[in-house]
Amino acid sequence: MLPRLIFEPEHHQFRDAVRRWAEAEVFPHGAAWRAAGSVSAEVWRQAGAQGFLCPFAAEEHGGLGLDDIRYDMILTEELNPREPGFFIALHNRIVGPYLQKFASPAQQARFLPGVVSGETILAIAMTEPGTGSDLAAIRTRAEDKGDHWLLNGSKTYISNGLLAGLVVVAARTGPGHEIGLFLVEAGMEGFRRGQPLQKLGLKSQDTAELFFDDVKVPKTHVLGDPAKGFKMMMTNLAEERLIGAAGFVARAERALAITLDYVQERRAFGQAIGMFQNTRFQLASLRTEVDAAQALVDQCAMAHLGGQLTAELAAEAKLFSSEVEGRVVDGCLQLFGGAGYMEEYEISRLYADARISRIYAGTSEIMREIIGRGMGLDGRNRN
Ligand SMILES: Cc1cc2nc3c(=O)[nH]c(=O)nc-3n(C[C@H](O)[C@H](O)[C@H](O)COP(=O)(O)OP(=O)(O)OC[C@H]3O[C@@H](n4cnc5c(N)ncnc54)[C@H](O)[C@@H]3O)c2cc1C
Repeated sequence: MLPRLIFEPEHHQFRDAVRRWAEAEVFPHGAAWRAAGSVSAEVWRQAGAQGFLCPFAAEEHGGLGLDDIRYDMILTEELNPREPGFFIALHNRIVGPYLQKFASPAQQARFLPGVVSGETILAIAMTEPGTGSDLAAIRTRAEDKGDHWLLNGSKTYISNGLLAGLVVVAARTGPGHEIGLFLVEAGMEGFRRGQPLQKLGLKSQDTAELFFDDVKVPKTHVLGDPAKGFKMMMTNLAEERLIGAAGFVARAERALAITLDYVQERRAFGQAIGMFQNTRFQLASLRTEVDAAQALVDQCAMAHLGGQLTAELAAEAKLFSSEVEGRVVDGCLQLFGGAGYMEEYEISRLYADARISRIYAGTSEIMREIIGRGMGLDGRNRN
């Protein structure tokens, strides 16, 4: 297993604290949360009390002032493989940075304390029934009515959609490519949520449709320039993909660990199945792939810390780690035989959960587009 060279002693202490807390307060609820289709609001408040929510936030907003993606990597590595429904990476590193980077001081003072304490759970609503990959084609619209924006449209597949107290909503604001980002709060008139969506995996994660019917969004609730939301989304997507990748590698690592235990216990033809050369070779190949993915993710994390993470590098990390995760859970499940197909075995959940990694936060095809364009292969340079 690859040594992790990117962490300092304070990160290891942080990991120990997260691990202890998760064992006591998070993992015991897994079965109940899967049955309910959602984690509890309470676990978010408990995480806030531990200082685990948006550690980047300034101390004046209740945060730790630790703008270091390694803390969020640790949180997702420890929590995501065993309780993916508690989508702390979404709160901390996918939506949180919008408030950190683009919100005004007044917006930060208003929203960040609740975000840090866990009173306010975050979501981001970009995808619509008609478009996901092609974000420039969204149809949700916000009209400038002088003293407010009038928001109309609908969004789908929104993680934390039901629990969220604050949703960053992308909406068209002009006749061209102008997109604005709007801070929509729970309880605003005209903002409705659908039923929880039934999914292949991630059973404890609440994923929902959101509807906006003549929602009057105050002018105070616009993030930055209402015509520059597309650029803001593109800026943040690199970080989103990197933190996603950290979780995918951790899930692959978890799959390997439980499979290694299983193949040493399960017997066939008079020996542990781990003694078959096929098992050894399979696991050896998967071990190597996970280490390679980890090396890429860790190197990208250091690039992020140094302000050098590009969209292309983040896309490589997301593409490779999600594809590795897919191969690992598939190969590992095979080694469980029929047991691997049973819900009571964790590997079956890891298998189902992994399928989304190649789709959300940009599909593998879109990742290849980004990487290919970065190589100058976008069709515009042809002559
Ligand atoms: C569980 C879950 C949670 C999610 N959470 C959120 C969330 O919190 N917020 C949010 O906004 N969205 C969320 N999403 C949406 C997710 O990001 C989109 O589903 C994803 O980006 C793909 O968009 P799509 O579903 O519209 O697929 P489409 O864009 O319709 O793509 C369909 C297929 O066409 C391919 N394709 C599309 N364009 C190209 C191209 N140019 N070249 C080659 N192939 C192409 C795709 O790769 C894919 O294989 C979530 C989705 C799921 C399932």
